[in-house]
Amino acid sequence: GDRKVDFSEQPHELSRIKKVIGVVSGKGGVGKSMVTSLMAVSMKRQGYNTAILDADITGPSIPKAFGIKEKAMPTELGLFPISSKTGIEIMSINLLLEHDTDPVVWRGPVIANTVKQFWTDVIWGDVDYMFVDMPPGTGDVPLTVFQSLPVDGIIIVTSPQELVSMIVAKAVKMARMMNIPVIGLVENMSYFECPDCDKKHYLFGESRIEEVAKQYGIDVVAKMPIDSSLAGACDKGLIELFENNWLDHIVQTLEKSEKA
Ligand code: ADP
Repeated sequence: GDRKVDFSEQPHELSRIKKVIGVVSGKGGVGKSMVTSLMAVSMKRQGYNTAILDADITGPSIPKAFGIKEKAMPTELGLFPISSKTGIEIMSINLLLEHDTDPVVWRGPVIANTVKQFWTDVIWGDVDYMFVDMPPGTGDVPLTVFQSLPVDGIIIVTSPQELVSMIVAKAVKMARMMNIPVIGLVENMSYFECPDCDKKHYLFGESRIEEVAKQYGIDVVAKMPIDSSLAGACDKGLIELFENNWLDHIVQTLEKSEKA
């Protein structure tokens, strides 16, 4: 695309990556990794070559959601990602650390550089959609990461407990600064659907997400409920088995922009 970001880093010569989608949030714990994982699973089901670059270096939760226990070993050619059960290509700092529980205490520039290397040194192969689980927030680290990857569009994940209007404002500003389109807003933990009475309960009150989205001229592309079977699938490393239609609209949005 037509990018204004000063981006000179080339991917590995054996990587051909068509679209890079960044997933961002205001803080940790709102479900950014969950949305990243589910998006990748959905696009893989549509038949696309799909990859996840886990740029959330200090809170890498992608390998666990996919139940990946192997480590990525450097080869003479470079570093290969690990393939999930359904063939989603994944790179995360946890695939390189000896122990998953080792804390990463690096400072911003080192984190940004690691993410840049995930782009330049990993042999991704042919990828139609790469989803990037961004570091949370809109501070220095996510900003630098954004500047080191050619992101085609971002998905903003919020939850109703947050100061949504402020978070959306910051994320939209960050995206505009870098000339990256906002694909849409995902509200996670939006409601709870009671399995006994089928009613939707808005535990945090009805959200103002539509209003906020309208204010910034962006779309609410999904509302995801709090779902214990989703959390369970994630916990067991079986996210690929989880069936839902919550993200169908955003999948269609991505496919439409492909054809446009
Ligand atoms: P983030 O990437 O924003 O830090 P995660 O995606 O890691 O957040 O989610 C935080 C925790 O909340 C995880 O344990 C995850 O399984 C759980 N979680 C996220 N979204 C949902 C949901 N819609 N329903 C149930 N649990 C969820």
